Amino acid sequence: MVRYGELSTKGKNRGYFINRLAKNIREVLADMPELKITAVRDRAHIELNGADYAEVSNRLTKVFGIQNFSPSIKVEKSMPIIKEEVVALFKEIYSEGQTFKIATRRADHNFEFSYAKVQMKKPDITLRVEIRQDATYLSFEDIKGAGGMPVGTAGRGHLMLSGGIDSPVAGYLALKRGVEIEAVHFASPPYTSPGALKKAKDLAAKLTVFGGSITFIEVPFTEIQEEIKAKAPQAYLMTITRRFMMRVVDRVREERGGKVIINGESLGQVASQTLGSMSAINEVTNTPVIRPVVTMDKNEIIEIAEKIDTFNLSILPFEDCCTVFAPPSPKTNMKREWMLRGWLTVRSKELCSQQLLVKTGTKLKKKNLLISYNKKCYL
Ligand code: ATP
Ligand code: MG
Repeated sequence: MVRYGELSTKGKNRGYFINRLAKNIREVLADMPELKITAVRDRAHIELNGADYAEVSNRLTKVFGIQNFSPSIKVEKSMPIIKEEVVALFKEIYSEGQTFKIATRRADHNFEFSYAKVQMKKPDITLRVEIRQDATYLSFEDIKGAGGMPVGTAGRGHLMLSGGIDSPVAGYLALKRGVEIEAVHFASPPYTSPGALKKAKDLAAKLTVFGGSITFIEVPFTEIQEEIKAKAPQAYLMTITRRFMMRVVDRVREERGGKVIINGESLGQVASQTLGSMSAINEVTNTPVIRPVVTMDKNEIIEIAEKIDTFNLSILPFEDCCTVFAPPSPKTNMKREWMLRGWLTVRSKELCSQQLLVKTGTKLKKKNLLISYNKKCYL
């Protein structure tokens, strides 16, 4: 029995939230066909039909929008049967000396009965008997859910996913507030290896456990980076590169119906993440850019990366496109005019008219569906 989180307060949107949550639950459990999943107004039910409870429970704890859930036994709505099952369950979970309490809720008011109530302040066992329209449900433990909002209910966003530690964490935090994510990764072969690309894909795949599939979009970035390297003043190379990235991501977002860009910038972490640099990078778009880890220290980010199991993958030694081209001394205290001068030089005619191919999108999970599209992406 699954109880919803914050979405209970969403008034008219409630139906939409519940449907989306049910879809996300179905998706993370898609490979277990024996399960029967139903979602109603205030609860969702997952009938195990012999499936491995531990596995289902483990996956459910990661799905955003669930407040908590309880393994329950569904029994017929008849007093003798309820009594029999309660006693049987109790015998199974009770060990000598423990206190207990039976909490009863009766949603179906046509069901009449009387009972003797044992009440203690802090019982070791709380045995719940819920009498609902369809059946009676017995349970004795609540497992904490992931909270947050069902993924997708806030709309779609585009995550700038590098192979680092920060951006997967940023993606996770955006998923938590209901943003459905498409991952956009810039690759610069042959400077960056197929291993680096695979690592970014694997990181995106890791995030699918929080509520469904994630489309992975690879952006070939070599030509632009070579052009920047050749023409931009070295001190502004990083900022200009980031500006291009932001611009391209914004085009991809526009084409794919995204409402927001998400990245893993953290204030002051590196030269391109000072406030001056961040605003210069941001100038190329009016789209909201959310930076979920912007105020976190690196160790706080790492703590989350460990919790969501992306850390060990993130620290694998593959070069990112930005590290390959990184200048020895990037500007921390940048002059906007100088940066713009470099930007305009790089945005030469050839580069402006060049078609940027957004090569492949891989829908991770399920059957690795490949969508390839090659619309123009003007810079
Ligand atoms: P991370 O920040 O993920 O640990 P990083 O530290 O290597 O990786 P930064 O140099 O801090 O990356 O880059 C800041 C942000 O820019 C990243 O968090 C990410 O959102 C974006 N970014 C950097 N490189 C790429 C890339 N190759 N593809 C997509 N986005 C990128
Ligand atoms: Mg970083």
